[in-house]
Amino acid sequence: MCNPLLDPFDLTPFAKLKTAHFKPAFTAALESAREEIDSITHNTETPSFENTIAALDYAGYSLERISSVFFNLNSAETNSEIQNLAQEISPMLAAFGNDITLNEPLFKRVQAVYETTDTTRLTEEQQMLLTKKYRHFQRNGALLSDSEKQQLREIDKSLSKLKLTFGEHVLAETQKFKLHLTDPADLAGLPESAREGGRLLAEAEGLEGWIFTLDYPSYIPFMKYSTQRELRKKMALAFGSRAYQGDALDNSKVLKEIASLRFQRARLLGYKNHAEFVLEERMAKTPAAVGQFLKDLLEKALPAARREVLQLQDYALKSDGITHLEKWDSSFYSEKLKKETFDLEESELKPYFELSSVLDGMFRIATDLFGLHFEKDPTIETYHEEVIGFRVRDAAENFMAIFYADFHPRPGKRAGAWMTSYKPQFRKEGKNERPHISIVCNFTRPTKNTPSLLTFNEVTTLFHEFGHALHGMLADSTYPSLSGTSVYWDFVELPSQIMENWCYEPQALALFARHYQTGAVIPDKLIERIRASANFLEGMATVRQLSFAMLDMAWHGADPGEVNDVKEFETEAFGETLLLPEHPQTCMSTSFSPIFQGGYSAGYYSYKWAEVLDADAFSYFQEKGIFNREVADKFKDYILSKGGTEDPMDLYIRFRGRKPDPQALLVRAGLANADS
Ligand SMILES: [Zn+2]
Repeated sequence: MCNPLLDPFDLTPFAKLKTAHFKPAFTAALESAREEIDSITHNTETPSFENTIAALDYAGYSLERISSVFFNLNSAETNSEIQNLAQEISPMLAAFGNDITLNEPLFKRVQAVYETTDTTRLTEEQQMLLTKKYRHFQRNGALLSDSEKQQLREIDKSLSKLKLTFGEHVLAETQKFKLHLTDPADLAGLPESAREGGRLLAEAEGLEGWIFTLDYPSYIPFMKYSTQRELRKKMALAFGSRAYQGDALDNSKVLKEIASLRFQRARLLGYKNHAEFVLEERMAKTPAAVGQFLKDLLEKALPAARREVLQLQDYALKSDGITHLEKWDSSFYSEKLKKETFDLEESELKPYFELSSVLDGMFRIATDLFGLHFEKDPTIETYHEEVIGFRVRDAAENFMAIFYADFHPRPGKRAGAWMTSYKPQFRKEGKNERPHISIVCNFTRPTKNTPSLLTFNEVTTLFHEFGHALHGMLADSTYPSLSGTSVYWDFVELPSQIMENWCYEPQALALFARHYQTGAVIPDKLIERIRASANFLEGMATVRQLSFAMLDMAWHGADPGEVNDVKEFETEAFGETLLLPEHPQTCMSTSFSPIFQGGYSAGYYSYKWAEVLDADAFSYFQEKGIFNREVADKFKDYILSKGGTEDPMDLYIRFRGRKPDPQALLVRAGLANADS
């Protein structure tokens, strides 16, 4: 069989590619990757940066290319054949990764380079790579004794089981509860889409009436729009007490074990606690820095949040005679008050955001800021006829990247929006290999009579993913693992989030926000309303985000072995962030999946961290002009092109001239004068 993946390729050969090609390609690529690793391990020369560290980073290139094609397709254009194959391939790749991590002779070479190299003779990028490679082994136990290594494996095994259990409990508890309504009066306030969703759920169960569940697409609209306070209460209490009912699905014990094992793991590796272990590889660096960051923001946001609660309480009292605002009221009255205040309808905005003109405007902004030019190239093969391929050049006509854009939902595409790559950028043997970047979205499709008109949220999503794409396309590193978006976790959202800011600027909107029928530019008054409504009740929203981050740090910043009662511990961690009454039957921790099941442990703070960065970075543009080339050049030279080649704080300071200052975020969020 002729297999396009078995020959070296630059552009992904989508046209000839069949699912059946992957298995033999993976087998061959894994074998050659193993050989490459072996030749590094068994090299008889003295270990050096080049023959060990750099060689390790370049090893397995064809495996990486094939993996990215495969897993990108599994997200954007999958089918059961690909999904089954993923089940088979993933363990093979995991085993390959483990074999490297546990390869002692290989670690000995890495360690020798780490301990004997005169780092002043290395470039900054090389120093970063050396530390990164060494730490990877060390953080996985390479320095431990055999018995300690055994202990680490046991902990890891238990942890992965417990995390699964945690997730299974949350899922089971989410699915267990159903609010079945048969009286149409109980649907009061709900929009047609929510009613229809409820009807379909009931129908699926063979029942009359409507069913509402704790899944977000069902739960969120119900809490926002239902005028039935008792029903909202029922839903909220069910939601809040998931995996906290003292039965077999209760997560209290599970999460304490997870937190304890993480703590033990960190101690075994020589760290004070799990947060210290995690933050070693973050821009924030230490638990103390995160703690201070959260404390400072909370101090600024609390007065505004308290005022907003009073405002909401007042409004609920006037509207419905409600004397005690409860958790199940806040979303409902927020939505109602927001609508009353701004009267902003999606249908009013959409005509100004036709996809093709938004795309043109976005490219134009990239030209004005970074000198990039996008040229559609139909000869670039894609995995679906709807995917568009572009050739990207810089101002001097140098080829910079291939850019794929895939905009609309299809049955084989997962939900959401993301940026990914098919080929990394790196330099080798004097050649600068340019990257192949892709963004995948699920935007409103065109209909027979209307082109694709985006919601404002879709517009900012597009700019967000495009920001990640710029980080990839402008990459200019030597080593692939430090290139583009391969940066610390709390730094990766700076390029994406900063791009969203242009969506709120009249000067930028004038480039693309034109009515698709009349050609009229979006009115300034409408922009004002978009901005104001984006900040509506921002104090409460900020405090809520901070509370989650504080809870996360409380669980992971100390020895959780001391904790007896989960709810008591949680309430103390929340401290001043509790703005509405607590109820003894609810608990956040027991269903806090991002930190106990997912990868966000000691990382929840990074949402706010990234907002501080993007607001502060954008304020520099605001000071000098949002299309100022000097600032844009700095952003390109010190942030976008640098990837993970230097410490992110150093990069940021070189761009901004100082450390990030939260003030810009407070101003943008309307919280700057909240200290009254
Ligand atoms: Zn992002």
